[in-house]
Amino acid sequence: MAPMERLLVIGGDAAGMSAASQARRRRPPEELEIVAFERGNFTSFSACGIPYYVSEIVEDLDELVVRTPEEFKAKQSIDARVRHEVTSIDTSKGAIEVLDEDGGSTSWESYDQLLIGTGATPIRPKLDGVDAERIFGVQVLDDGAAIDALLDSEKLETAVVVGGGYIGLEMAEAFVRRGMKVAVVDQAPEPMTTLDPDMGALVGEAMRAMDIELYTGEAISGFETTDGKVSAVVTRERSLPAQIVILGLGARPNSALAEEAGIEIGPTGGIKVDRRMHTTTEGVWAAGDCAEKFHLVGRHPVAIALGTHANKEGRIAGINIGGGYATFPGVLGTAVSKICDVEVARTGLKTAEAESLGFEIESVVVDSTTRAGYFPHAAPIKTKLIVERMSGRLLGAQIVGKAGAAKRIDTLATALWNEMTVEEMLNMDLSYAPPFSPVWDPVLAAARAAVSKIESSRR
Ligand SMILES: Cc1cc2nc3c(=O)[nH]c(=O)nc-3n(C[C@H](O)[C@H](O)[C@H](O)COP(=O)(O)OP(=O)(O)OC[C@H]3O[C@@H](n4cnc5c(N)ncnc54)[C@H](O)[C@@H]3O)c2cc1C
Repeated sequence: MAPMERLLVIGGDAAGMSAASQARRRRPPEELEIVAFERGNFTSFSACGIPYYVSEIVEDLDELVVRTPEEFKAKQSIDARVRHEVTSIDTSKGAIEVLDEDGGSTSWESYDQLLIGTGATPIRPKLDGVDAERIFGVQVLDDGAAIDALLDSEKLETAVVVGGGYIGLEMAEAFVRRGMKVAVVDQAPEPMTTLDPDMGALVGEAMRAMDIELYTGEAISGFETTDGKVSAVVTRERSLPAQIVILGLGARPNSALAEEAGIEIGPTGGIKVDRRMHTTTEGVWAAGDCAEKFHLVGRHPVAIALGTHANKEGRIAGINIGGGYATFPGVLGTAVSKICDVEVARTGLKTAEAESLGFEIESVVVDSTTRAGYFPHAAPIKTKLIVERMSGRLLGAQIVGKAGAAKRIDTLATALWNEMTVEEMLNMDLSYAPPFSPVWDPVLAAARAAVSKIESSRR
């Protein structure tokens, strides 16, 4: 008996395969055929693990693959076809054009439901030499595999990361761990522009302490090449030798395929979706980095590329495709990274964002310790809160510290999610024992400081 409906998925990673898996849970193969097309070599991989694979903390690339096409077939009757690129969508016919990268042939595949999970595309500046060999954007596992293979096959000594986003910085650290001389160039005054500059400066300190050369406030003007390969990154001030370059300038939603098909794109460049992850085109869904997000504090559309969002959005889309009802409320942009020797965490709005959205704010920065001050290995941790002055509502938070930033930011994200004021946060019943925190945890110490500041500013 022919399947009653057909779901096609474009993109075989977090968003696409989460959606496929959820749809399968609700509808058996007799009711719903599911075919996923992935242009790379891997399905359901952890791009987040790439820096740890390149640095050789993770030894085997396969460890970063959560589920292979064979496993999808055997366990869930999902036909995941790698090395198949979708080149066009025809929404009027309900079909997509697929290129088989090995055979070179194209075919049209029809759908009843289509899920677009094409991810994001690393930003490539339009500068001389940018298309030279060995200039990498890092987005998918194939990028990680290619970088690692290059480092294994040749003894490269110099790397330059262009841009100070967390992906570039994680890669910079990976190169240091591989024994290379590494420079990072960023045109912003401090690295990690998802933080306020004062908190970003702490990241810069941690990088310098690991012998990463950091050039801030410098825009690159081009790349020098030798025999088609990159040899240097050029700024107005200097030329930095580079046998390999990582573009760490952020990523844009990969929405071109959707846009060409007339599917509506939002103001941030992401595919416009409703709260069920349905696009404005009947039968077409989108999730993950390619889809526009709604910011829960700013109440505005944003393009934020995070695996946490992609997995959740894919799940929501899959439930709806499978005949259920689920909604995705929006995002706070909660993120954490380990950059050199520090944990760097953020959630909600940073100062400049809050101000540009019209909030009247106060902010506090509190120095504290990761453990009770007298406890061995107590280390500094800095917490910044951004608060609406008159209401006392928390709008955003950032933490940089040797340890414990990751989980503390989740407390703050929970407060933000529940629209708590700093007064309400003050008495939250958070845990304490000397090996884990001072008796006033940095989160509570920061809330206290914020309460004092807004009280005095209101007088
Ligand atoms: C180095 C690195 C570290 C990261 N660390 C973190 C972290 O610590 N925490 C966190 O939350 N997030 C992290 N992220 C971000 C996270 O990996 C992404 O947000 C997440 O993978 C997005 O999932 P997605 O399914 O939307 O897109 P992707 O994972 O990009 O998957 C999209 C897939 O679609 C395929 N595709 C695109 N176009 C086509 C087409 N036309 N035809 C067929 N296939 C196509 C691509 O090949 C890709 O496999 C990191 C990302 C990187 C690169």
